[in-house]
This record gives sequence, structure tokens and C-alpha cells, in this order.
Amino acid sequence: MPDALIEFEDVSYWYGMDTPSRVRALDGVSVDIPPEQIIGVVGHTGSGKSTLVQLMNALLLPVEGQVRVFKQETTSKGADLKGLRKRVGLVFQFPEHQLFEETVAQDVAFGPRQIGLTEEEITSRVERALRSVGLEPEEIGPRSPFELSGGQQRRVAIAGVLAMDPDVLILDEPLAGLDPEGKRSFEKRIRELHAERRLTVILVSHELDAVARLCDSVMVLHEGRVRVCDSPRMVFKQSNMLRDSGLELPDINRLMEVLRDRGLEVRTDVISVEEAAGEILAAVSKHGTA
Ligand code: ADP
Ligand code: MG
Repeated sequence: MPDALIEFEDVSYWYGMDTPSRVRALDGVSVDIPPEQIIGVVGHTGSGKSTLVQLMNALLLPVEGQVRVFKQETTSKGADLKGLRKRVGLVFQFPEHQLFEETVAQDVAFGPRQIGLTEEEITSRVERALRSVGLEPEEIGPRSPFELSGGQQRRVAIAGVLAMDPDVLILDEPLAGLDPEGKRSFEKRIRELHAERRLTVILVSHELDAVARLCDSVMVLHEGRVRVCDSPRMVFKQSNMLRDSGLELPDINRLMEVLRDRGLEVRTDVISVEEAAGEILAAVSKHGTA
């Protein structure tokens, strides 16, 4: 097993720690994020997903326990938090709300400009980042971000983080509010980004179907605790645990459960439509000849 990029050791976090109305958002979380995977983070609203990912790039620091990012403890005195944030890029939920420059190119260049790169390097990073999210720099770069569609704006915001050339890309609910077509094309884009840049991707999402298709492993959060972190196949067959955590199974797993409950001998831990079809056909033909 290669070394983990990000390690959580018994991490707890409270908002308003020193106030009477403090809220515990994470409770004793221990997880490792290995390199070059796509890792899904799922959980009901309020389960602690956004808090978890903000601890990963040291926007938040643990109240208890330790977070190590590239071997640096984020709470240690000498930690280079600015450096860490460059390597771990976080795209917030609805990042398009944070676009503010006059042109797309200026917006994407904002981060690289802050770290004192040359104009030449900035231009090349902006172009590459826009291409990575499927936007043509010559066409889109000079335009105002506010003239673009919502989906395009979101891509611009992601390009702004990619332009920092991170090793880890965290996307907090990147599919939220997109139409089905937008979701599909985004899903493809995430897969391509991951392959092209060898990025480690952390994908926070309510869309369990997409998570099942995209992710190498899935973490389920419930009330600030990690209930399980395993392959999609292992996670999505634990239907009771998921329901108990306030989550619905992906559609194909639900379908397989219904078929099984009606007497068809199928496995329910499938992770793609193709696999589900294979299972059903095999069961039906066995059924027919029995
Ligand atoms: P998720 O992203 O899974 O919806 P969050 O990490 O945003 O969950 O929230 C975890 C818990 O922390 C929830 O109970 C939420 O209400 C609380 N919380 C989140 N942000 C704040 C904040 N800025 N101040 C106070 N409580 C917060
Ligand atoms: Mg959230």
C-alpha cells in the first residue's frame, strides 16, 4: 500500500468550541487518503462532509486528534499551510458564486498570480486549466464569466483551482443543481481529469449512482463519524447501514434488491448497469430452464 497523502487520526471538530451552542461536526474520525484514487464522500446533510474536506486542506484545523497532509501535521507550529493549500485544491459547493473578475482568463489566473508566477507561466496554466475542464481558452478566456451558463461558470471555478496545479482535487457537491445532461458530462470530465493529471480526487456527492460509477472507494459519514470506507461494491451492498445513515441505495442496487425479493436469484452488489444486465439475464435464463 503506497503512503497515504492525507491521514486523519482520531479527529474531532466542533464549531463554536468556546460557546455554549457548540456543535460537534466530526467525532473521532480516522481515515487515510491514498494517492491517485477517486474517493467518494457520501452522507446525509449535516453529517460532516464539508467539515471533513475543509480539514483536508487546513482551512479548518482539528480541535482534537491530528490531520497530516503530505506528512505535515496541520496543527504543528512549523506547518506550511499555504504550501499545503496549493497542493490540496478545494472547490466549494456552488463555486460559481465566487467568480468575480472581469474575464474568465483573469478569474482563472487569480490564484497563480497570488503565488508570483511569471506572466508566461500564468498564461500557460490558465490555458491548460480551461482545456482540462473542456473550455476553449481562445473563445471563453476573454468573456465575462457572468455571460456563461451555470455549468460553464462552475467549470471556470474548477479551472481556477486546477491552475494552481494541485496534487489533490476536492470537489464538494460538484453535481448539485446541474441538469441530467450536465451531470453526465461532468462525470465524464472528472474521469478525464483524474486520468490526465493523475490527480487524487475527493468527490463529495449526494448522487450515489455517480459515486458508484466513478469512485475507487467510498466513505460513508453519519453524524460526524465514518461508518465505512471501502470499495463501492462493498459499500453499496450494505443497504441497511446506508438507509440507517439517511441514504438511498443507487438505483441499480435497489432494482437488484427488488428482483431478489421477488425471487430472482441475483447478486445485489453490482456497480454498473452492464453488470446488472448480465446478472439479470443469467438469472432469467436459469429461471427459465429450471
Ligand atoms: P455536510 O457537508 O455533510 O452537510 P457539514 O460539515 O456542513 O455537513 O456540517 C456538519 C455539522 O456542523 C452540522 O450539524 C452543521 O449544522 C454544523 N455546521 C456546519 N458549518 C457550521 C458553521 N459554520 N457554524 C456552526 N455549525 C456549523
Ligand atoms: Mg456540505
